[in-house]
Amino acid sequence: MVAVHGDSVASGRRRALEGFVFRTLEVLRATHITPRLRRITFGGAELAGFGADRTGPNVKIYIPLPGQDRPLLPERVSSGELLWPVDDLCPVMRTYTVRRHDPDSCELDIDFVLHGHGVAGNWAAKARPGDLLGVTGPGGKTVRAADWTLLVADHAGLPAVATLLAETPQDAHGQAILAVPGPEEEQRLRYPPGFQVRWLHTGAAADPEPLIAAVRELSWPPGGTAFGWVGAESRVVRALRDHLRGERGLARQDTLCIGYWRRGMDEAEYHETHDNDRDDH
Ligand SMILES: Cc1cc2nc3c(=O)[nH]c(=O)nc-3n(C[C@H](O)[C@H](O)[C@H](O)COP(=O)(O)OP(=O)(O)OC[C@H]3O[C@@H](n4cnc5c(N)ncnc54)[C@H](O)[C@@H]3O)c2cc1C
Repeated sequence: MVAVHGDSVASGRRRALEGFVFRTLEVLRATHITPRLRRITFGGAELAGFGADRTGPNVKIYIPLPGQDRPLLPERVSSGELLWPVDDLCPVMRTYTVRRHDPDSCELDIDFVLHGHGVAGNWAAKARPGDLLGVTGPGGKTVRAADWTLLVADHAGLPAVATLLAETPQDAHGQAILAVPGPEEEQRLRYPPGFQVRWLHTGAAADPEPLIAAVRELSWPPGGTAFGWVGAESRVVRALRDHLRGERGLARQDTLCIGYWRRGMDEAEYHETHDNDRDDH
């Protein structure tokens, strides 16, 4: 069995997962939404009950190590505590968005960016029907209702914005600014008539500057309440949180800015060193 250095689930994150049910899900099918975004549909008996006792936009996924045909998930012992596999056998944990969950058909979709550098992205690029993945959740925070909502995302945040827009009430108003590598990565989205959606093309290297500039230059509607949501690379999130709370004067509770990834760091390291740039707790 091969150890993945630095990727074992750290003790703080293990504590946060104590109350969750660990499920092993099966890949049912995989389709390319766009050339670099692959939708994997999961099912299996263990998906039953998902979302019944918890809500939230995200899941943690657990990817088997090389040589394993299923992730070794922690077991709940009689005391109720979780017993984790030894570090070298622990699956790699990552955070993803629930793009769709249908309890009737017992299916769950996750859209994976194929960015080419990471364990999860590479797993998704090769996933085939019958492959197994661990999942806990759902969990996490989401937008609060406001008169006008700003949604800002790069490619990794796009599945979250696509889901938010599809679930937004038809009388809602707002603006989404979405950065993808190029026009081939735009996708058809469902959104209310009072929303505007603007696409930016920021290249394969995901240049953060055009996205930051587009938000800084945006005209906001006068009056009313506003909420700002940002899900993108660390640099974008830091700059735009400052902008929303500083120049735009939004209160802390009227923003939700989460670093979805950080250039040059894997997710475990980003979480350990910067807590995904969160400051909402
Ligand atoms: C709440 C939340 C929800 C998320 N939802 C989704 C989702 O639905 N779909 C999705 O694709 N991602 C999503 N992400 C982002 C995803 O968790 C990260 O991109 C994660 O790092 C991917 O893991 P990996 O194993 O592929 O790469 P890692 O092993 O974590 O990173 C390896 C290298 O790849 C780089 N890297 C990581 N992500 C990207 C990227 N997107 N583009 C370019 N380089 C990258 C890192 O900087 C690092 O150098 C979400 C993140 C959060 C916090």
